[in-house]
Amino acid sequence: MATKLSDNHIKLAIQKDGRLTEDTHNLLRTVGLHFESYKQRLFSICRNFPMDILYVRDDDIAEYVAEGVVDLGIVGRNLVVESEKPVEEIMPLNYGHCSLKVAVPADSGIERIEQLSGCKVATSYPVTTTRFFAERNVDVNVITISGSVEITPALGVASGIVDLVSTGSSLRLNDLVAIDDVLDSQSIVIGNRDSLANSHKSAIIERLLTRFRGVITASEYKYVMMNVPTSALEYISTIMPGLKSPTVLPTADVEWMAVHTAIHEDMFWDVIEELKTLGAQGILVSSIEKMFV
Ligand code: ATP
Ligand code: MG
Repeated sequence: MATKLSDNHIKLAIQKDGRLTEDTHNLLRTVGLHFESYKQRLFSICRNFPMDILYVRDDDIAEYVAEGVVDLGIVGRNLVVESEKPVEEIMPLNYGHCSLKVAVPADSGIERIEQLSGCKVATSYPVTTTRFFAERNVDVNVITISGSVEITPALGVASGIVDLVSTGSSLRLNDLVAIDDVLDSQSIVIGNRDSLANSHKSAIIERLLTRFRGVITASEYKYVMMNVPTSALEYISTIMPGLKSPTVLPTADVEWMAVHTAIHEDMFWDVIEELKTLGAQGILVSSIEKMFV
């Protein structure tokens, strides 16, 4: 029997083959979804969750979500902003980080975007770029290029570019320097507004989002185990902003207690250093691989 999409399932569009694909598959598998994902597929049906996955070009995801072809999409925020489609930005997913930046040839002497006034600026993001310069009252001629934007200054096509940058290696390779930030982006979940208002669909969507939240929260915390002097325990408990109050267990030695807790990555090193000065020993740290539920 041929597999077919089910009306009772929600539909999720993800990038078929590109920079976001592997991390998106990893996220979906980490939240426990079973599905097939070999390259030629157009869609998969999850075996253990009421959801079908469509594999598409990333440029089409915002459109499909806005039109209700699918209920949810996972896509770079840069493309959602550029598309100007009426979709709900539901949740950042903490991968696919990049920024849309204004860059110019390193030897151009240009340091501020005002110096690009009257010049040509090449980009694959004409909507976002036009808005950025207009909001700053800098009059540029935006030229739309579909790929390899970074080579246009060397070809004499444009004086500057607006392009996606993650590590900056592509800019350096082409003797370009960034002079301003247009937009910060990462992979996000977007939703169709009618689907979010539909009680049957929104209940399934919320189950999925709860699992995503669990993975993202877990990735931001480290699990820490240590021995602390019993005398310092009360004070140590107050400086440990764990998810809940730390778990405290007795050890064979009454002078020492074993403490287990989760510490947010933002304050991790500060807390660890303070714990050491307070006499904590045998500090063991592990990342939380799966999720908090
Ligand atoms: P498709 O074939 O699906 O249209 P694509 O070639 O347009 O793919 P990719 O290069 O796979 O797109 O990039 C997908 C997304 O990855 C981008 O829209 C952006 O959100 C994110 N990304 C992260 N880092 C970078 C980077 N250095 N350059 C480009 N995109 C990046
Ligand atoms: Mg694309």
